[in-house]
Amino acid sequence: MSRPPRGARFPLGLDHLHGSTAPGRPTERAEPRDLLRPQRPLAQAARDALRQAAPAGLGLDSAAVRSRMVERLRADGIACEPVLQAFGRVERHRFVDTALATQAYEDTSLPIGHGQTISKPSVVARMLSLLFESERARAAGTLGRVLEIGTGCGYQAALLSLLAGGVLSIERLRPLHDKARHNLHGWRQGDVRLVHGDGRLGHAPWAPFDHIVAAAGGDALPPAWPDQLAVGGRLVAPMQDARAGGQVLLVVDRTADGWREQRLGAVHFVPLKSGRE
Ligand code: SAH
Repeated sequence: MSRPPRGARFPLGLDHLHGSTAPGRPTERAEPRDLLRPQRPLAQAARDALRQAAPAGLGLDSAAVRSRMVERLRADGIACEPVLQAFGRVERHRFVDTALATQAYEDTSLPIGHGQTISKPSVVARMLSLLFESERARAAGTLGRVLEIGTGCGYQAALLSLLAGGVLSIERLRPLHDKARHNLHGWRQGDVRLVHGDGRLGHAPWAPFDHIVAAAGGDALPPAWPDQLAVGGRLVAPMQDARAGGQVLLVVDRTADGWREQRLGAVHFVPLKSGRE
């Protein structure tokens, strides 16, 4: 994996130049907002209705199954139209084992092998919506160049590719990297590059990234991530928070002066590990 090819769709302004901002990394702790609030009864009812309306044997290829998932995400408070449209387009059942395919459009996390899980749609949708609230995304209407840490089965990478100019996704486990490559084989709707490596290091040859999203949470933010984030860009990652007594969703915005940090609601992601296997 090296630099993006000539003509890559990431026009970068001078303000993107790596290291152009002040060296300090001041953080501003915002009041925790309960964005990842527990399911409300309305959403629960919608989910139950979906289960009954989708008996085994219903064609999972059908756009109707996905549009029901989209309506449920909407009922659950997701209002970012590009994100909702992406959920309507990517066939989640193609990214999980056949035995689990009938559960693919429920709001549930599912095992993808090797002790890892694909996150539930509502959590992925919230993370992608948060990316869309960055200064750069609001100005450009797209996520630009995105770094994903934790490719897993490749589902979120496929969603991201519909929302971004290009996606570079890193996975530390070779079998999952290969699985994602298989799942995304023939994916022609967006530019996705897959890398087998330790995502804690980011991917310097492609930096800076307009957005960074992690699907695995550690005890601290790897320094490469905020360093490789463009000014006006945003990173969203789960992280252990001693005060909260568990994982929270960390949102970091890079400004001309440094970095601003917010900690949102509690989440449960697989651990961010070091090295690659
Ligand atoms: N976005 C994925 C979710 C995968 S679960 C999907 O849509 O399927 C999180 C993934 O992060 C796991 O596959 C795990 O192996 C991977 N991971 C954990 N630590 C990592 C690291 N340091 N670098 C890259 N991937 C890592």
